[in-house]
Amino acid sequence: MSKDFPLGINGYTYADLHQPLRLRDLQKTFEDSVQQHDEDLFTEFQEYQGCQGENMPPQIISDLLVRMAPYVGEFVATLFQVEDEVAAQSQAIREEVDSIFVYRTEVVGKLKSRFKNEDISTWDIKKIQADLALLKTAAFPIAANDPDAERSVSRVGAKLVRLANHYQLIANDKPKDKDKIWHLDDADEQVSEIRKSLSENDDAKITFKTALSQDQAAEFINSLLDVVQRWTYAAQNDAELSKSVVGWVSFKIPEKTDSANLVHHETKQRDGFTTWVGPEDDRRRRDGFALTDPRFNTRQTLYEIDHCIYCHDRDTDSCSKGMRNKKTGDFKSTNLGITIIGCPLEEKISEMHILKRQGDNIGALALIIIDNPMCPGTGHRICNECMKGCIYQKTEPVNIPQIETNVLTDVLFMSWGFEVYSLLTRWNPLNVKRPYALPYNGKNTLVVGLGPAGYTLSHYLVNEGFGVVGIDGLKIEPLPDELTGASGQLPTPVKDFSELYEALDKRLLAGFGGVAEYGITVRWDKNFLKVIYLNLARRQSFNCYGGVRFGGTITIEEAWDLGFDHVAIANGAGKPTIIGLKNNLIRGIRKASDFLMALQLTGAAKESSLANLQVRLPAGVIGGGLTALDTTTE
Ligand code: SF4
Repeated sequence: MSKDFPLGINGYTYADLHQPLRLRDLQKTFEDSVQQHDEDLFTEFQEYQGCQGENMPPQIISDLLVRMAPYVGEFVATLFQVEDEVAAQSQAIREEVDSIFVYRTEVVGKLKSRFKNEDISTWDIKKIQADLALLKTAAFPIAANDPDAERSVSRVGAKLVRLANHYQLIANDKPKDKDKIWHLDDADEQVSEIRKSLSENDDAKITFKTALSQDQAAEFINSLLDVVQRWTYAAQNDAELSKSVVGWVSFKIPEKTDSANLVHHETKQRDGFTTWVGPEDDRRRRDGFALTDPRFNTRQTLYEIDHCIYCHDRDTDSCSKGMRNKKTGDFKSTNLGITIIGCPLEEKISEMHILKRQGDNIGALALIIIDNPMCPGTGHRICNECMKGCIYQKTEPVNIPQIETNVLTDVLFMSWGFEVYSLLTRWNPLNVKRPYALPYNGKNTLVVGLGPAGYTLSHYLVNEGFGVVGIDGLKIEPLPDELTGASGQLPTPVKDFSELYEALDKRLLAGFGGVAEYGITVRWDKNFLKVIYLNLARRQSFNCYGGVRFGGTITIEEAWDLGFDHVAIANGAGKPTIIGLKNNLIRGIRKASDFLMALQLTGAAKESSLANLQVRLPAGVIGGGLTALDTTTE
C-alpha cells in the first residue's frame, strides 16, 4: 500500500514534503496565498526577505513575524486537513483567555481599590454566595452549567466587566487607545438579554430588584458586577470561602523573588549538624522510573502568558536578547552575579506568546522553530536562561520553558502533529535565512557525538544541503525502517503521536541524544528525544551509527579516506570531571555521572531488567548541579 496521500493544498502530496525542490514550490504556493489575502503584508515580508533583516529595527521584524505567523498556522492546518481540530484548540484557548484571564485582570486585579475601606467581617458571606449562584442560574446559563468552578465564575465576571468597560468607554470624551479594545457592537442587546432573564426569574426579580430598577445600562451592569466583585473579594479574604479558590490561577499573584532562598527548604538538626530538607508538602513520593512531572496544563500555561507583557514591541524582550547596560553594551548581571544573556538562541519568545494567546499553536511553534528547530530538546526541565533574563527580576519570572514545551506538545498530540513539527524544521516561511531545506550538494560531514550539539549541528547541515554521518560512542538502537523510510522509501506518516509515545519506565533506551539520554532521569520526558531522532533519521542525507568511537573505531585519517570533507567534533566535555580528591575512585566512591550512566544504559532502572546496580545507603552526594540532583533523587 502506498504511504503517499494527497494533502489539503492542491497539487501536493505527503511525499513532496520530503523533497527539497518541492519544499521550494511549497514556499511559492504559500507566498501566493499570502499575497491573495494581504498584499501589503506580502510586500513588507518580501522586503524583509530581501534584506534578511539587515538594518531593520527589531520591533518591525517582530511585528512582521507576528502578523505572518497566523498565515503559516492556517496554511499548515489546511495542508494536513486539520482545520477543525485547530479551530477547536484555538477556541478552547480563546475561551480561557476571554473568561479566566479577563476576570483575573479586570476583576481580581482591581479589588484592592474597589473595597479599600471595607470591613469584610460585616459582610454576609452566605448571602453573597447565594446572590452569585442565583445570578448565574438566572442570567448566565452557560456559566451555571460549567462544571469548572473557576471558569464558571470567570465567565460571569468577564462578561459583566466587559460590558462595564464598554459603557465607561462611551462615557469617556477622550478615551485612550488602549481602552478602545472594550468597544462592543452588541452591548445593548447583551444588557437587554440579562435584564430579561433576571426579570423572568421570580427569585432573581426580588434579589436584584435594585439593579433592575436602574434604567441606565451602565448602572445596571455595575450593580450586577458588584455581586461578582464582592464574592471575589470575600473569596480572597474569608478563611472559609477562600478554600474554594485554592489553586485558581485567576487569584494567583506573582511572588517576590527571594534570591537568598531560591530553593525552598526547611532546616533540621541531625547528629549535631543543621541540615536542609525539602518541605514536607512538596514531596512527591515515587516508586520506579515513570515520568514524575506531567508539565503545566493549558490554564497554567496561559497564566504564564498572561503574566508576560510582550516586550518585543519595545525591543526590551530581555528573555530573548539578554539585559544590556545601555552605556557599555555589556550584559548586566543579577544580584547573584549571573550574567543575564537571555536565550542563547535568541528565540522569538515574546512573539510566540502572542500567537499562543491568540490560540494559534502551529503559528507559535513556527516562531519557536525559526531559531530553535530542535525545541523538543529544550524547554521545560532542560534550560531556563530565558527565565533568568525575564524583565521580572524582583518577582516570579514568566515560566517560558513551560510555555515553549506546551506549544510543542499541543502540536505533537494533534492529528499529524509529528508531521507538522517535522515539516516546520524543513520548511518554515518565517525563517527568512533558510525557508526551505536545500537539496544535497555533494559535500559530506562526519559529526562526532549525537548529543544536543551533534544532533543540532546535523540538522542545520542537512538543511544546508550537506550529507551528514553522525557517530556516537554509545550504542544507538535503530528505529523501525518503515518509520524512518530507510533505503529511499517514503517514511510511514505518523498521524497519531501517542502511538510513538512510550512510558519512561518501559521505553527502550534508544541511546540517541548523548547526555540527554543517559544523564537525565525521570524529571524530563525522553519521548522528546525520539521526536528529534526520528525527525533526523528520516532525512535522506543523514545517517547515524552508534558504538563508534572517534579516534578508536574510526580515526581522523580514516574519516578523510572515507571521503568526508569535514569532521565536526560535538562530543561535549567528553570525559567526566574528576575532582581533585585523593582516592576518589576507592571502593565506596562513585562518580555521579558514571552512576547515572550505569543506571540508565544498563537498563537497571527498569523493573523488568536483570541488570544489577547496587548502592549502599546512606550516600553522600557532592555537588549541587543537575548530575548531583539527579543522582540524589535516584
Ligand atoms: S517573558 Fe519576560 S522579558 Fe520576555 S517578553 Fe515576557 S515579560 Fe518580557
